[in-house]
Amino acid sequence: MRAMLLDAPRRALHLAELPVPRPAAEQVLIKVHACGVCRTDLHVVDGDLAGGKLPIVPGHEIVGVVAETGEAAERFRIGDRVGVPWLGYTCGTCRYCASGRENLCDSARFTGYHLDGGYAEYTLADQRYCFALPAAYDDVAAAPLLCAGLIGYRSLVMAGDAKRLGIYGFGAAAHIVAQVARYQGRELYAFTRPGDIEAQQFARGLGATWAGDATAAPPESLDAAIIFAPVGALVPQALRATRKGGRVVCAGIHMSDIPAFSYDLLWGERSIRSVANLTRRDGEEFLKLAPQVPVRTSTETFDLAQANEALTRLREGKITGAAVLVPGPIR
Ligand SMILES: [Zn+2]
Ligand SMILES: [Zn+2]
Repeated sequence: MRAMLLDAPRRALHLAELPVPRPAAEQVLIKVHACGVCRTDLHVVDGDLAGGKLPIVPGHEIVGVVAETGEAAERFRIGDRVGVPWLGYTCGTCRYCASGRENLCDSARFTGYHLDGGYAEYTLADQRYCFALPAAYDDVAAAPLLCAGLIGYRSLVMAGDAKRLGIYGFGAAAHIVAQVARYQGRELYAFTRPGDIEAQQFARGLGATWAGDATAAPPESLDAAIIFAPVGALVPQALRATRKGGRVVCAGIHMSDIPAFSYDLLWGERSIRSVANLTRRDGEEFLKLAPQVPVRTSTETFDLAQANEALTRLREGKITGAAVLVPGPIR
């Protein structure tokens, strides 16, 4: 099979010919139809995240059909369409797993980081961490739901009942969260890279009350803010834009250092928290909600072999919505 492989951080992926893997007992073999490109993939490629497997096939927003099942894998049948998210395995017994917080599992393994992912024609996944996908979405449209959607949804839940919601960084996750937030009757304030008029227009098109530069003050104080951009300097900026008692939620897996700031910005019972990974419950809730909204994903497709180009465009902020790789016809 064709796969895009990362041999070492800060190198380009290369197209490799690998044997089609065979499923272990609890695994399914999936013929990949689409795989979203997430900012976390950039952090893996750029070496911002340590401790992953190398070489690795990145990609954790996988949509495909079951091509083969392991001997104990009975949840799906051959031909079923499934989605594979970032959370690929948990231990089931640590204190986090035992308390409904498997996203924090001490022994968690993540797709496209510890486990080969979806930048390939085939991939393996543990059946227990796969999702059935809503029929309303075609393969490409469904791919961004699996991380941008799921983590975005978890971040939105962490923002509490905020009426005036700020979003910093208007990429794949934000464009999905914006639609859910509007559906829930929230007011949306979108903050983009300074001067990114295109992203600001995109946000207004999705119902933002206000859209402007991340350095600007919103016309009203926010009840909560979600930061999707991996930029630590946005934390004090978001605190400044947030009212007393408000929350700032950091949704990314990696962020540059947060600069020192005056305690005044945190005073007034403002809080800062991070959102880590997802639980299977988040996935089930969100995949039920998405077609009700209905969330529509904006995607730009690339051939599997163009993965480096997709990553470069994402790094440069040139993707509107989400980038999705398509393996194309299998030889
Ligand atoms: Zn655990
Ligand atoms: Zn992701």
